[in-house]
Amino acid sequence: MESRLHVYNTLSRTKELFEPIDPPFVGVYVCGPTVYGDPHLGHARPAVTFDILLRYLRSLGYRVRYVRNITDVGHLENDADHGEDKLAKRARLEQLEPMEVAHYYTERYHQAMERLGVLSPSIEPMASGHIIEQIELIKLILSHGFAYESNGSVYFDVEAYDKKHRYGILSGRVIEQMQGGGRSLDGQDDKRSPHDFALWKRASPEHIMRWPSPWSDGFPGWHLECSAMSVKYLGQRFDIHGGGMDLMFPHHECEIAQSVAATGHQAAKYWMHNNMITISGQKMGKSLGNFITLEEFFTGRHKLLGQAFSPMTIRFFILQAHYRSTLDFSAEALHGAEKGLVRLMKAVATLDRLTPGGESTIDVEALERDCRQAMDDDLNTPIVISTLFEWVRTINQLHDGAQSISATDLQRLREVVRTWTFDILGLRDENGAGADDLVPPLVEMVLEIRGQAKAQKDWATSDLIRDRLASIGIRLKDGKEGTEWERE
Ligand code: ZN
Repeated sequence: MESRLHVYNTLSRTKELFEPIDPPFVGVYVCGPTVYGDPHLGHARPAVTFDILLRYLRSLGYRVRYVRNITDVGHLENDADHGEDKLAKRARLEQLEPMEVAHYYTERYHQAMERLGVLSPSIEPMASGHIIEQIELIKLILSHGFAYESNGSVYFDVEAYDKKHRYGILSGRVIEQMQGGGRSLDGQDDKRSPHDFALWKRASPEHIMRWPSPWSDGFPGWHLECSAMSVKYLGQRFDIHGGGMDLMFPHHECEIAQSVAATGHQAAKYWMHNNMITISGQKMGKSLGNFITLEEFFTGRHKLLGQAFSPMTIRFFILQAHYRSTLDFSAEALHGAEKGLVRLMKAVATLDRLTPGGESTIDVEALERDCRQAMDDDLNTPIVISTLFEWVRTINQLHDGAQSISATDLQRLREVVRTWTFDILGLRDENGAGADDLVPPLVEMVLEIRGQAKAQKDWATSDLIRDRLASIGIRLKDGKEGTEWERE
């Protein structure tokens, strides 16, 4: 298979031709959500970004194994190596078993992702289900001399690692520079150096999420789960590791160090990172009052929004920016995306109704060619969308008779427009612009006429309408509250 796909590899800081290790198989690992709160806008961007990658790789004929984890353990407050486990804290506050919290928010995440048109991953491993694999990985790192035990906890020895390999190759940071940013040792720590990070933490007596290990009853460090689970499901070398840019340091940097310390080489060939979102120019944060959950977008129940925005509007808006650019959300910008999406869906519906005639005055293959070229250039979805909009204009010209199209070309155009709009961009027609969505208002209108006939005791017309609707698969049910209908 000849691929012309180029992706920006954060590791080499260049766009590289994508060449899978073992084609046609492609292994993709993406850091998934933490599950101690409702899914918010910050969850939507990586999910949609890597959904596009998955869809595009599949459209190129690759067989993708897409692994996206659920972080349900070891995510401590302030992302530090101590503090309360965030999930356990939520469980304590809500008087729930921690796994109830994890399950509830995992379901909420799944529901939101489905509404956003994000395909389900091939495997969705949970950190709490892979404690044994994580313990084995720690043993391996210890045996290679890149970790040490201290008071029941195990820490990764960054300095020992840095002497042999280089720590900081992904983020470009060097240890000397990290000194300022890193917390200094405050006496509660069992670490030798502030750069070191936990592979295993001994649990304090009140810590409820704990497992036995050779070192103590405790729990794994956050960075460890992704190293353990990616290798378990994708092998010691796999193709793409993705996630949000905020995870680059320390999370992904630590993942690389752990893999190299355990196996002597890196696990992922390409690292891909989506950029962050802002809301009206500001970073999203609970303290800033601009923290908006996806549910609040879908219902409009947030003071900054003023109206509801459908899941497809959110998706379309995300795709209008390149994944490596920052993306600023505002009600006005979303409003623009909403209008654009309606225009696109109307054009798809118009295309379905067009009739061919004469010779084509347009080059149908240009659409496919231009879209592929844009996607091959590091998944440039904004160019794909602007190309589709050029074709919205063409479709309207075809409709007005300003251009003409042959029967074969029309069929091909329908196929290409649908593939790019629905299969690759993953959009859905949710605004009723499609012809099929005319059914409900039409049935309501016919029922109104039937109601008038009944009021005039015109039973023949009333029955005729009922029978004719039944013949096209619409069944009526007369009740006290009026007439209900359903499709068979
Ligand atoms: Zn991760």
